[in-house]
Amino acid sequence: MRIDLHTHSSVSDGTDSPAELVVAAAAAGLDVVALSDHDTFDGLDEAVAAGPRVGVRVLRALEMSAQHQWDSVHVLGYGCRADDPALAAELARVREGRNGRVPAMLANLARYGMPVPPEVLERQVGASPSVGRPHIADAMIELGYVADRTEAFDTWLADDRPIFVGRYAAPLRRALELIQGAGGVAIIAHPWGRGRREQLPPSLLESLADAGRLDGIEVDHQDHDAAIRTDLRTLADRLGLLATGSSDYHGLGKTDHGLGCNTTGEEVLAQIEARVAERGGRLTGTGAASV
Ligand code: AMP
Ligand code: ZN
Ligand code: FE
Ligand code: FE
Repeated sequence: MRIDLHTHSSVSDGTDSPAELVVAAAAAGLDVVALSDHDTFDGLDEAVAAGPRVGVRVLRALEMSAQHQWDSVHVLGYGCRADDPALAAELARVREGRNGRVPAMLANLARYGMPVPPEVLERQVGASPSVGRPHIADAMIELGYVADRTEAFDTWLADDRPIFVGRYAAPLRRALELIQGAGGVAIIAHPWGRGRREQLPPSLLESLADAGRLDGIEVDHQDHDAAIRTDLRTLADRLGLLATGSSDYHGLGKTDHGLGCNTTGEEVLAQIEARVAERGGRLTGTGAASV
C-alpha cells in the first residue's frame, strides 16, 4: 500500500485543484493521500469526493503555521473536526496574518525595483483563501524578475532575505493542543529541514512527547538529507513518536518532489486512524456527518 500524507492544492499554494490532485495521486500509484493545505480545510470536501471516482482513499488534513521562539514551525494535523471553534478561530487569525503582511512585502518589492501589480498577484493567488510567499514568487516569475521559486526564495523571500516580512503564527504548544483538541493527530512537518535542527532540539521534542502533546514527526521529506532522516528515525523510536514520510507535493510550483516520492508505512497510518477515532476526530468523509 502506498501512502502519501502531505500534499498541497491550489486552495493553498499548490497548483492542482483538490480534485486534480486526487486524480494525479491515482496516476502516481497511490492508495492513500492526505490533502494538507496551509491553514485551511477548504479543499477537503472536493478532494474526498473525488477519491471513489479514481480509487484513492483521501484523508482530511491540514498544515498549520506555528512558531517556536520566533522560528517558523509547520504542524500537520490529521482528522481534525473542521468546525471545532477554537481551532477555526486560530486558523482565521493565522490567515489574516498571512494576508496582512502582503502590502508590506509588495512595498519592499517596489523599493527593490520589482513592482507587482495587484492583478498579477491576484491571478497567482486564485482560489486560495490566503496569500503565501510562493504566490508572490510566482508573480515575480510571471513578471520576469526571477527564473523560478527557488531563486525567488533564495535571493528575496526567505526569512533572512530583504523582501521578507514576518507574520502571526500560532505558538507551537498551542497549535499542537488545538489540533488534538479538535480530535486530530499532531505531527511536526519537516522538523529539521532547511537548517532547523537547532530550533527544534531533541530536548524540546522530548518534552512535547512526554506531555502527550506531540504524536509524531515527519522523517522522510525532501528537505531532510540521509543523515537527518537516520537521526530523526532514531529519535522517534526513542520517544515513541510516529514517523511519517511524505512528498509535500505542490504541483507545478515545485517539480522536484512528485506525489509518492516519500511514503508512510501502513502501521503508522493504522496508529493515526486509531488515535483520531479515540479523540472523536474525523479523517474521512465529506459534509457535516462523520464517515
Ligand atoms: P508562507 O506561508 O508565506 O510563509 O510561505 C511558506 C511556503 O513557502 C511553504 O509552502 C514553503 O514550502 C515555501 N518555502 C519556504 N521557504 C522556501 C524556500 N527556501 N524555497 C522554496 N519554497 C520555500
Ligand atoms: Zn506550501
Ligand atoms: Fe511546510
Ligand atoms: Fe507543506
